Amino acid sequence: MSRWRIGAVTVTRVVELEMAGGTRFILPQAEPETVLPIGWLRPHFVDESGRLRMAIQALVVETPTRRIIVDTCLGNDKQDRGVPRWNNLQGPFLADLAAAGYPRQSIDTVLCTHLHVDHVGWNTMLEGGRWVPTFPRARYLMGRVEFEYWRTQREHDHHHPVFADSIAPVFEAGLVDLVETDHRVADEITLAPTLGHTPGHVSVRIASEGEEALITGDFVHHPCQIARPDWSSSADTDPDEARHTRERGRGELCDKPVLVIGTHFAGATAGHIVRDGDAYRLAV
Ligand SMILES: [Zn+2]
Repeated sequence: MSRWRIGAVTVTRVVELEMAGGTRFILPQAEPETVLPIGWLRPHFVDESGRLRMAIQALVVETPTRRIIVDTCLGNDKQDRGVPRWNNLQGPFLADLAAAGYPRQSIDTVLCTHLHVDHVGWNTMLEGGRWVPTFPRARYLMGRVEFEYWRTQREHDHHHPVFADSIAPVFEAGLVDLVETDHRVADEITLAPTLGHTPGHVSVRIASEGEEALITGDFVHHPCQIARPDWSSSADTDPDEARHTRERGRGELCDKPVLVIGTHFAGATAGHIVRDGDAYRLAV
């Protein structure tokens, strides 16, 4: 478990899965021969043979008044996922979350940076053959644009298991608040639009007692994209806009005292973007 402090706010990482390799489908340009020369990626983010290390993890943001889980991973018991290994998971995520100090009933806010399969899974859990909200006392915050995009996708393609098992049940339970991409969640917590990976994608800004952090969501999947923002993910709905967002974000964060916490970053998970001649890296 890793935990960071930003003023009066803590951010705690609860890992569901970590992997090395098998990620080429997500970042096709990040081959061993292209990532190994970027030496700072080792050992946290790339292994000795040049395979990408990535994590699927939730980040719990605790403020003096709120307990927020940012992104809810894959979830147990889900079926029909595009990646075979993601089907019918039986992982200890909820026990790990409780062990970190956050029993599911204590979460008051669920925040989805976007509505992809690996960010909404634990929105629901299987109980008596039905998908029920995992966090029954929480408001689930989803971007209005993002939600409408996926709802329309589902209307065009009725077979949309992720929407059906992980989004619709919490919406139908009346737990969803549709919010704008610059929504203020709490005094210390604000959304920031980082579009391109999906049409309504947001990152999460934390500011408290003069300290700052940013939870990326998937506008950067992997730290190699800090060096190479032109490497788009195969999951980016608009690769050009996604590249512009990464370039702009890198410029805004570079050499600033802002802790960048990567939603899929393995190893150290967080660091500062620094300029190194005409190159950029994540200093951990
Ligand atoms: Zn993701």
